[in-house]
Formats: sequence, structure tokens, C-alpha cells
Amino acid sequence: MGVESHPLHLFCFPFLAPGHMIPMIDMAKLFAEREARVSIIATPSNASLFEKTIYRTRCSGHRIEIHCLEFPSSVAGLPDGCENLNDIQSIDNLIDFMKAVDMFQEPFEQLVEEHQPDCIISDLFLPWTLDVADKFAIPRLVFNGTSFFSLCVTERIQRYAPHKNVASDMEAFIVPCLPHSIELTKSQIPDFAKAQSGFVEFFERVKEANARSFGVVMNTFYELEPAYVEHYKMELGRKAWNVGPVSLCNRNTVDVAERGKKACIGPDDCLKWLDGNTSASVVYVCFGSLSQFTAPQLLEIALALEASNRPFLWVVGNSEKLSENEWLPDGFEERMQGKGLIMRGWAPQVLILNHPAVGVFVTHCGWNSTLEAISAGVTMVTWPMFAEQFYNEKLITQVLKIGVSVGCRVWVLYEEMERPVIRRDQIEKVITLMMDGGEEAEGMRKRAKELGEMANRAVEVGGSSYADMSRLIEELKTYSLKAK
Ligand code: UDP
Repeated sequence: MGVESHPLHLFCFPFLAPGHMIPMIDMAKLFAEREARVSIIATPSNASLFEKTIYRTRCSGHRIEIHCLEFPSSVAGLPDGCENLNDIQSIDNLIDFMKAVDMFQEPFEQLVEEHQPDCIISDLFLPWTLDVADKFAIPRLVFNGTSFFSLCVTERIQRYAPHKNVASDMEAFIVPCLPHSIELTKSQIPDFAKAQSGFVEFFERVKEANARSFGVVMNTFYELEPAYVEHYKMELGRKAWNVGPVSLCNRNTVDVAERGKKACIGPDDCLKWLDGNTSASVVYVCFGSLSQFTAPQLLEIALALEASNRPFLWVVGNSEKLSENEWLPDGFEERMQGKGLIMRGWAPQVLILNHPAVGVFVTHCGWNSTLEAISAGVTMVTWPMFAEQFYNEKLITQVLKIGVSVGCRVWVLYEEMERPVIRRDQIEKVITLMMDGGEEAEGMRKRAKELGEMANRAVEVGGSSYADMSRLIEELKTYSLKAK
């Protein structure tokens, strides 16, 4: 039997957080478009966020389906209906949430036994999927929704612990043995990397499961970070395939607009508002699906946007948890009428970033947001908060040179620790720098446009990510045939 005749069946299992599910769903659709049969594992409420786009993919003749597992929220001590990381607002709840996620192992195992897929593509935060894959002698691929750059920085920090040689949290050090000279401070690296959180053991499990897996599938493209793709594969000796930017698989406005969640403003209204602005004039501000700001910080952002005197689109994701009197200046929205728009809830981010009116993106540097901006050729004001966002910031500002930092230097999860407030004049200064048409900003815009073109070429037939996905499919088919 020829390798081509074997229909590959993939199980895609995303972690239950928007920043993990969104790219995994995109990637699942890409595999389905490449003739694989794809099953996505989700909980009922999470499945409802993407079932329409999966249905549309199926209607186009592709084999893609969703398998739901009930999420044991109450058994783990969580409020009912708490099925997504963006419902979680404290470390205690996070611990319970992770317990509930671990309880998926048994029903997942039954599902694998029943359907006998050829491969499991698992989010990195589900380390026990390796035990299931081992039990049924199928390969486990890790979907790691970050950059090669941040994987390399993480590994180098783990191996050489350069943060142990500095006298204070704010003293800069160079990350050893990387292709570029990358400067960080101890305050910017994650708690668990400094062994300061209850999740150290969990991250050890993640690391061990990753090391024993078939390889890593990455949402990135070769031309973006060639030195780090090579470094990861050659120096660190790992197998990896880059298949991104996966957001580019959404080719029609409905799929783009409904990505993640239903937006709080309809796509037509959003586009109409953007159409009313001149090219590259709008400041787009959005901090992903999880970031939380305190009221004093939101107030500083509001005043900075007003003072910068540019049209803006500001997504205030966690607004419902704070009273607006605490952070919205008196009469702000009336004064900003026609000039700035506050979006309370979910924004159709990819639709916005690809509109020619957008001039800069103020971002928390989540990898999806970063790559979506790169794919749209948009420069960034970087404002990292937690996870590996400070590493992504360094890629943007020090390697790619397509953005400027707002100056946030403290890694904090859930605001359980004081994070210094970034003042309005500092925010206004970087926005003005990026928007004033000066030489530095123009250089960044030019580079961002070039990277955007490369990103789009990478996923076209013959592009580097397209070719890597073909190689991966062939390798999995060969593996599966040998195993049968
Ligand atoms: N996103 C969106 N609208 C919003 C907020 C976020 O579409 O209002 C999407 C964004 O386009 C990205 C994802 O949610 O695909 C967030 O992922 P990222 O890695 O940037 O950050 P995280 O939310 O994981 O911190």
C-alpha cells in the first residue's frame, strides 16, 4: 500500500484557554484541509465557541469533528460552568482548575481506545496525554503556542540560571549562548522559572513529557526567526515543525470575525468605524484574553490615549469586574466621540489588525497576538505582563525591531503582587514615537510590512510552513504504516 492511501486520523487536544484553543482550532482546520481526518477534544461550553467554524469547514468537504468531555468543575471545587482559564481569577482557583484538567485523563483514554487515532497533537499543558499515547503506542506531538525564540530563552535560563548571578531583581543580565545578545531582568522571568511558585512540579512534568514526545508543532514560520529554529533543532537537538501563522487559515470574514468568541461589536460596525479613519492612523489597544489591569492602570491608559490625540480602539476585556467610576475619567467617552472607541468584551482582533487604518498595536505580547500583528504587518508597543510575554517582547524589540517597549518590567500573574503602574506620559511618549512618522518608526513599519508579506507567503502552497506541514503529514503516515 502506498503511503498516500492511508487516511491519517489526528486527535487535537487544546488546553482550555482562548490563547491555546484558538490557534489549535486553526491548526486543526489546516490539517483537515490537507486531507487528514481531525477530531478536536473539548468541553461542551468551549466547543460552543468554535463549533460554527468547524461546521463550515466540514461543509467544505473536510473531515473534522468535535468530541466533548464533561469538565468536572464542581468535583474539583470550582463554580459550575467554570471551564475556561479566562474564568479563573486567583491562584487558588487555578490550582483547582488544573486538578480538573488532570481528571480528563481517564475519559480521554477511553476516547483514544474507541477511535484509535494515528497521532495525538496535545497542548503542552496536558502532559499526561503522553501516558495515553504510550499506552496505545501512538506518537504524541506537542503543540507549543509560542515562538522558537522563547523556547530557546526558556531552555537557556533553565540550564544556566543567569538570574542567579545578579544582585537585584532589576539588574540586567544577558541570556547565555543565544544567537543574539538578549537582555532581561530577574523581574521579567516567570515565577516558576525562579522556583517561586506552586507550579514548579507541574512544569517539570510538562518538560519531561515534551522531551519524550515525537516532536513539537509550532505556530510560527521559518523566515521570522531562522536563527532560533536552527538553534532549537541543532543546539537543543529537538524535532520541530513550523506550520504558522495558523490565523491565516481563516480566509472569509465570518471565520475571521468569529474567531475565539462572538465579538462585542458586529464586524460590520467595527469595519465601518475603521473605514472612517485614514490609513495607519488608529492606535489599537488589546491585552489578550486573560490580562487584568487595576483601576489606576486603566485610568492612566485612558488619559494617555486622550493626550496622544490619535484615533483609538481600546479593548477593555476585564471591565465588568471593576466599577467604571474607578477608572473611566469623567465625560471621557463623550469627549472621545468619533475619535476613540472603547470595546467592552471580545474584539474581532484579526479583522481589526488587518484593516489599513490600524497604525500600531499596543499589546501584552501573547504569542498569538504577536504573530497576528506580524502577519498583518503592524508595528507594536509592547506591554508584557506574565507567561512568556517578556521573552516575546525581546523578540519584537531586540531581534525583529518592529516595536518599542512601554517599560513594564515586572512579571505578575493575577495582580496578587503589586505591579508598578505605567504612567500616562510614558504611554503617550511611546505611542507618539510609533505614530509620529519619524525615521525610527518608519524603519519599524517597513520591516513589519516585509515580515507580514513573508508570513503570508509561508502558508501558501510552496511556502516554508506549507512544506513543513507536508513533511510532518508524510512522516506521521509512514510511522503509522510501520506500526500497523
Ligand atoms: N483575542 C481576540 N479578541 C479579544 C482578545 C483576544 O480575538 O478581544 C484573541 C487574539 O486574537 C488571540 C487570542 O485571543 O488570538 C489571545 O492569545 P494571546 O496568545 O495573544 O494571549 P493570551 O490571551 O493567551 O494571553
